[in-house]
Amino acid sequence: MNYLPIFIDIKHKPCLVIGGGDIAYRKIMLLLRANAKVVCVDKFACKNVHALADEGKIVLISRNFKTSDIDSQSLIVSATNNKELNAEISQLANNANIPVNVIDSPDLCSFIMPSIIDRSPLVIAVSSGGKTPVLSRLIRAKLESTIPHAYGKLAELAGSFRDQVKEKFTNIEDRRYFWEKTFSGIIAEKVFAGKIDEAREDMQQQLDNSSDSEVGEVYLVGGGPGDPDLLTFKALRLMQQADVVLHDRLVSKEVMDLVRRDAELIYVGKERDNHSVPQDGINQLLVDLAKQGRRVCRLKGGDPFIFGRGGEEIETLAENGIPFQVVPGITAASGCSTYSGIPLTHRDYSQSCRFVTGHLKDGSMNLPWDELAVEQQTIVFYMALKGAQHLSNKLIEHGMRSDMPVALVEKGTTPDHRVWTTTLGELPNVVATQPIKAPTLIIVGEVVKLRKKLNWFDSGD
Ligand code: SAH
Repeated sequence: MNYLPIFIDIKHKPCLVIGGGDIAYRKIMLLLRANAKVVCVDKFACKNVHALADEGKIVLISRNFKTSDIDSQSLIVSATNNKELNAEISQLANNANIPVNVIDSPDLCSFIMPSIIDRSPLVIAVSSGGKTPVLSRLIRAKLESTIPHAYGKLAELAGSFRDQVKEKFTNIEDRRYFWEKTFSGIIAEKVFAGKIDEAREDMQQQLDNSSDSEVGEVYLVGGGPGDPDLLTFKALRLMQQADVVLHDRLVSKEVMDLVRRDAELIYVGKERDNHSVPQDGINQLLVDLAKQGRRVCRLKGGDPFIFGRGGEEIETLAENGIPFQVVPGITAASGCSTYSGIPLTHRDYSQSCRFVTGHLKDGSMNLPWDELAVEQQTIVFYMALKGAQHLSNKLIEHGMRSDMPVALVEKGTTPDHRVWTTTLGELPNVVATQPIKAPTLIIVGEVVKLRKKLNWFDSGD
């Protein structure tokens, strides 16, 4: 390690910035975020630096640098484009034992500034020791996107309970266990959802009561249509902190690979007409597991509220007073159409789009066919493979053209993604003669024609 990472308190301390250009401006803004008292010396400072001075946020001295400027400074940043001057400032600062940073000259620096992820009071610093700032910035961008912004609020809340927790748990192990539970449980989730006051109350309650009778929480998570890159950050975070995961057939293997390694996995079906665990059983299982104090992730394909019976599952939870959250996912209609180059709406072909269930009940579908068999509309049929013949007949019977374009998308967004395009009249024949398997989505509408031009994902049909 070439540098020792430390965080310096420069609150209300005098910090000198020599040079007042754009780069200096960025450093000044950083120093101001840490509440430094900034003095900038430059005869020709840029507009932004002048504006800061006009607003009284910094002191701007409009002249050339003088040796005496460094007197009684706590920290110095040299951001001039004069090499000799930078070297002189570095020398002076070192002689006076004042930390100095010279922009783009690691050799002249006694400290370097890392890339930071600011979730104050939580701050993460990334540095390549001045070797490759671009790489540090890339890593920073990755961390930015995976660390929820509300972590700062969580750290703040934790900080305000620190003394109480110390008093309650004298044993350091107990203390650590308490914090770990807090940071990955319902209190943290409440903070992330912006319910700070509720989180504070819960925290107080947990400290006041014994934590034995604690109820867990259920996360109803949309796992998307298959491609794991289509998961939301929130879905991923909750999948990785759950103690137990209930999943079904629609959740892809690649998505399942992302759940916490040591989580218990429970498969709850459902193959068509062969439900491994009936719906009532799933609803009850969620309640029972949460009552044991476990964090339960109910992972569903697509979006849990679109033909996913997610509503019924959380109804039972609500009736039993179990806390839950719902994470939307990319629904099959959206994922399959996008990955097939079929925009669900398009100004020239379709002004609306309907998602309907094509599930056959007693050999038929109870759908408002007159409303569906219209022009300028896209219809997306879920669970309709078995009912393809029926829906084709019904739509034509109600006036839809038999040459209306139709796409069947099998295992959309996955490596096995496959598309067949046909017409409404030909649909039953295609389903009967081609090796099409569930899960398949059927898209009906003029927009299907656009696939010819817009297909980008698969090799074409
Ligand atoms: N909640 C899910 C839908 C569940 S209903 C969602 O929002 O996507 C199950 C039906 O969804 C399947 O019969 C099929 O029609 C469709 N489906 C789900 N994932 C699919 C995929 N990857 N490719 C094609 N169709 C899919």
